Amino acid sequence: MSSTAQLTTLEAFLQGYPNIEYIPPSSPEYPAARKPWNEARLDNPLAVVKPQSPADVAAIVKHAKLNSLPFTIRSGGHNLEGRCVAQDALLIDMRALTAVTIASDRKTAKVQGGILQDELAGKLWEQGLATPTGAVPTVGYVGWAMYGGYGPFSPHWGLGVDQIVGATVVDPNGDIVNADEALLEGIRGAGGLFGVIIDLTVKVYPLTSLLAGPIIFNPTHITKTYVDFNAAYEKLLDSEGLPSQLSVQQICFNGPMGRAFAALFLWSGADIEEGKRWSEKIASLAPLMVNMVGPTTIPEWFVANGAMIPPTIAGTGFSHNVRRIPPSVAEAIGRNLAIMPHDRGAMVSIHQLRGPSAGPQDHQSVFATREPHYMLELLGFSTSGDEEVSRQWAIQTTDEIQQADPDNLLPTAYISVYNSALQAKSTSEALEKTYGPKAQVLKDLKATFDPESVFSLTVPALE
Ligand SMILES: Cc1cc2nc3c(=O)[nH]c(=O)nc-3n(C[C@H](O)[C@H](O)[C@H](O)COP(=O)(O)OP(=O)(O)OC[C@H]3O[C@@H](n4cnc5c(N)ncnc54)[C@H](O)[C@@H]3O)c2cc1C
Repeated sequence: MSSTAQLTTLEAFLQGYPNIEYIPPSSPEYPAARKPWNEARLDNPLAVVKPQSPADVAAIVKHAKLNSLPFTIRSGGHNLEGRCVAQDALLIDMRALTAVTIASDRKTAKVQGGILQDELAGKLWEQGLATPTGAVPTVGYVGWAMYGGYGPFSPHWGLGVDQIVGATVVDPNGDIVNADEALLEGIRGAGGLFGVIIDLTVKVYPLTSLLAGPIIFNPTHITKTYVDFNAAYEKLLDSEGLPSQLSVQQICFNGPMGRAFAALFLWSGADIEEGKRWSEKIASLAPLMVNMVGPTTIPEWFVANGAMIPPTIAGTGFSHNVRRIPPSVAEAIGRNLAIMPHDRGAMVSIHQLRGPSAGPQDHQSVFATREPHYMLELLGFSTSGDEEVSRQWAIQTTDEIQQADPDNLLPTAYISVYNSALQAKSTSEALEKTYGPKAQVLKDLKATFDPESVFSLTVPALE
């Protein structure tokens, strides 16, 4: 069917569903509604629909299947390649589905599929609870959690993917079903492949205090500072180890005062004095500019983080997983920090996986990278139109890290940041790279749950 015919058929279907918000290409709202975080994605969807209930989502999927209408799912729109949008495909925007229902035992919460990270964390915080999230408020929670979900609460409670204990899904027939254990294995690591996630049931934890903030190091000799920090940090890991309540995310960015290297500190333990002691210890690992760690709340912490991240960018991101950050890798990163483009979009961000998710799990998942490691985000983005400059810098940084210590590189990479198009030669190579030995499990689950590939424009891509 041509796009014009698809649009006419869609509009006839929507007559029966007046609650579904409809944004056709002719609408003044369409340019904003189609735009993902990465503006380099120029695809124009057939139209945008915003379901207001699970039943709306089910009806849309039924209509799409019946009419062979390709579609994408969007929550926060923060897939790094902008893959929630595809040319001429219907865009199903889930952001009206934001309910959170806390179980009476306060150990789990049912979280709807369109909620953003700060919305979820705010609702839990009001109840004295928290669950792992990333640090950027506008990232979709379900999109973050179901592909892995690295973040500052992971050393304490584990990755997002390991919080998932249940899910409600709109399946390829447009039916609303509870995921069984087999489907949950696939949702934990590759959720978008099998259906629309209406809600996830995730573990939640008591939390009423937080100590967090950036520790910004002196940028004058940034390469040396970066190398020295990592040498001291690795030594600390080997000598004392770090408490589970502590997380340190390394970030290199262009702030108001120029290029900066910071350790984003977060302490999710009840003993705030112990947390302060640790913030001073981390601040002492390299020449300091300012230690901004202090008591805060999760909602305030999200607001502060949001101010550091551009609302949209254009460009390309890359990723490696490395076991450790030895001097050779620190030098490769540090050298490239010194020449990082002066652009708010250019960044390096490093998550460390340690704690409960770095090892075998009780629940099955297709998330493959279970040994302790650092997940490197090498972000060649731009807010000023110089995306090619940023991209070339990120490619160079990615290559130099790889060459610095090939044996230190893990065989698997993180689906949400790995650049499937540029870091792999084919879709199947990208699948092997991001799911390792779990790639075949994932293909078998897809053949069982979506044999006709109704969900075809997904993350990950199978074709
Ligand atoms: C600024 C920024 C910061 C980030 N920080 C982190 C971080 O700290 N840790 C980390 O691990 N990752 C991080 N990421 C990566 C991010 O978690 C993933 O890209 C995530 O998938 C984005 O989810 P979204 O809903 O915002 O994106 P979208 O682009 O809306 O969704 C991405 C894909 O997920 C699928 N999807 C989303 N919602 C549903 C649903 N309800 N049902 C079915 N499929 C769905 C679709 O296939 C969609 O194409 C970050 C990305 C950005 C841009």
